[in-house]
Amino acid sequence: MSTAQQLKKLRDSLTPSDRMPLVFLGHGSPMNAIEDSEYSRAWSELGRTLPHPKAILVVSAHWMTRGTTLVDVSAAPRTIHDFYGFPAELYNQQYPAAGNPDLAREVVTLLASHHAEGDDTWGLDHGAWTVLKFLYPGADVPVFQVSIDMTRDLDYQLEVGKALSDLRDRGVLILGSGNVVHNLRAMRMGGRPQDFALEFDKLFADKLTDRNFNALSDTKRLGTLLRMAHPSVDHYLPALTIAGASDERDDLTFMTDSIDLGSVSMRSFVFHQA
Ligand code: ZN
Repeated sequence: MSTAQQLKKLRDSLTPSDRMPLVFLGHGSPMNAIEDSEYSRAWSELGRTLPHPKAILVVSAHWMTRGTTLVDVSAAPRTIHDFYGFPAELYNQQYPAAGNPDLAREVVTLLASHHAEGDDTWGLDHGAWTVLKFLYPGADVPVFQVSIDMTRDLDYQLEVGKALSDLRDRGVLILGSGNVVHNLRAMRMGGRPQDFALEFDKLFADKLTDRNFNALSDTKRLGTLLRMAHPSVDHYLPALTIAGASDERDDLTFMTDSIDLGSVSMRSFVFHQA
């Protein structure tokens, strides 16, 4: 099915409900923020499809911490241009959404057993704003980020997702931003999808569909394939957070399931109440 067909199916199946969907977006290159691409068009369309949230909690691949899970409690998160060598137009981009300090502090409490702490030095990195710009172009929904703890096993992020899942019933959209396959060293301009990228992307989609999340966090069994797909797991972890926040009531819809530059999966997915 094409992304347009998948989005139509998603729109038709969304029932009026206070329980917010869960979204994972493959963000890929920062250039997607200023280019009209199949991805940016899909993100715009998804924004028009989703219910309007009261707040957005973003878990981005680009906020990595060690031994702690930080939660941005600032009232006005700054737009971070955390990339090098891109055109000026990209550095001029701003996403002026407000934060939500009260809710963010509550999230610190929710994630107490994950060594959470409030932080007011981060803001919105490009994993967040390059996609939010299309999802909610008016920047009229309060947004705050939660970091990923790089010192933990993969199943730790499944648990973080589970701990956050009740927020869905309060109108909070939990958005993960990373890539299901992300190997920058193997990236080739215009390159055809590499075998390991196709293999891991398919395995991920199959296990996610089966709700076999333990298979997705079993580092040992995933073995070399995981190391090829993710020399560092930063872009993988937000997908696990989103999986962990889902439950048996959710349907699953995939979109933009293509491999970019040979080794970056742009696969995105939405869990939504059936
Ligand atoms: Zn990235």
